[in-house]
Amino acid sequence: MSDAAFTCKMCGHCCQGEGGIIMTAKDRKRLAAHLEISEDELIERYTRESSGKLHLTCGDDGYCVFYAEGCGVHPGRPDVCRAWPFFRGNLVDETSWEMIQEYCPGVNPEVGHAEFVRQGKRYLREEDLLRYDPDTSPNALLSDD
Ligand code: SF4
Ligand code: SF4
Repeated sequence: MSDAAFTCKMCGHCCQGEGGIIMTAKDRKRLAAHLEISEDELIERYTRESSGKLHLTCGDDGYCVFYAEGCGVHPGRPDVCRAWPFFRGNLVDETSWEMIQEYCPGVNPEVGHAEFVRQGKRYLREEDLLRYDPDTSPNALLSDD
């Protein structure tokens, strides 16, 4: 049995649904560089604005515009995609962690919530995915405190 709290099973559930992927300035810069286009073109072609924040758009199938049997921009994907399932709510609330197990088969229930938190915080720190700016960082990310 694996002691990893999370191992992605590539089911694609987390790439489905409009509005979930907020694009910060950091995300826009990285993704535009990955696609070798300007940030203006990225914004024009692949995002829409809602509540003052830019979000990636979805295709007609309801999946993220970059989803193609997996993430089509994996090295350039936004921070929220990198952080899932170690979102703040799943780290601070054991019930949320239990609930996401139905949605995300990559979450390992066997290790328990405390170990999920321990591994998640370490991963977020190592990958520089903590919430760095309260005004622009996605609420889903854990604060650095
Ligand atoms: S829902 Fe979980 S297992 Fe499925 S693709 Fe997303 S992270 Fe991976
Ligand atoms: S950028 Fe990639 S990982 Fe993020 S939602 Fe789109 S397809 Fe999924």
